[in-house]
Amino acid sequence: MPDYLSVSQITLYLNCSLHYYFRYIEEREPERHFAALAFGKAIHSALASFHESLKDGKPLPVEEFQRLFRADWAAETTEPLYYANSDTPESLLELGQTLLAEYAQVCRFEVVEAEHRFEVPLCDPDTGEVLCDKPLVGIYDLVTPEGIVEFKTAKSVPDAGQLARHLQLSAYAYAFSFKERRMPTLMFVHLLKLKKPRVEMTAVVRENKHLQFFTRCALAVARGIEANIFAPNPGWGCANCEYARVCGEWP
Ligand code: SF4
Repeated sequence: MPDYLSVSQITLYLNCSLHYYFRYIEEREPERHFAALAFGKAIHSALASFHESLKDGKPLPVEEFQRLFRADWAAETTEPLYYANSDTPESLLELGQTLLAEYAQVCRFEVVEAEHRFEVPLCDPDTGEVLCDKPLVGIYDLVTPEGIVEFKTAKSVPDAGQLARHLQLSAYAYAFSFKERRMPTLMFVHLLKLKKPRVEMTAVVRENKHLQFFTRCALAVARGIEANIFAPNPGWGCANCEYARVCGEWP
C-alpha cells in the first residue's frame, strides 16, 4: 500500500475502489495497455521539454518540439497497445504533432517550473489540523508566477458543473495555497482530439470551500483504504480498465 496519497489514487478510488485495489494494493500487472494513456504520456513528456526550453529562455522551434514527441511516441509504442475507435499509431502520431504545433503558437505562459513535484500534509484548510498521516503528493504540469496550468488530452472540455467540482484542480489549489499561503490562478489546457484538433484554455477559480471539499474527499478515501473497503463499480470506466478479466473473477 502506498505511504502517500495522490490525486490519481483519490480519483481512481472514488471511480472504482476495486480498480484501485488491483493497481495499488496488489500492484498487479495490467492485462492490457491503452493507447490513449500512452498518447497522453508522450504529449506530457514533449510538453515538459518545451516548457523547460521556455524557462531557459530558448524556446524550442516547433519542428524540434514535434521531433521530441515523435521520439516519445515511438518509445510508448514499443509494447502492444489497445487502440480505441479508429485510432492507429500513425493517426495518433499525426494528431500529436498537430496539437503540439497549435499549442506552441498560442502558448504565452511564463514558466517558473515544469513537471514540478509537490508534497504537503493533508490538513483542514481552516484550522490547520492534520487530517491524515499520509502526505498528498503530486506533480504540477506547469507552474507560472500566478499559479498552476494543467494539461489534458481529451475529446471534450468538462462543462461548468464538472469544472466546479473537479478534484484534481481543487487538490492542486490546496497544495499550492498550503505552501504559498495564497490561492493560485488555475488554467486548464485541453488538447482536443477532434477531427479538427484544437487547443482550448479554460480559467478555473477555486475558493476555500473547494479546498474543504477536496480534503474531505481525500480523508474519506484514506479511511476507506485503511479499512480495506474495496468493491467494483461497473460503469463507463470499465471500458478503460486494465483489469477487466480479473474483475470478472472477483471475489
Ligand atoms: S472492470 Fe470496471 S468494475 Fe471491474 S475493476 Fe475495472 S473499473 Fe472496476
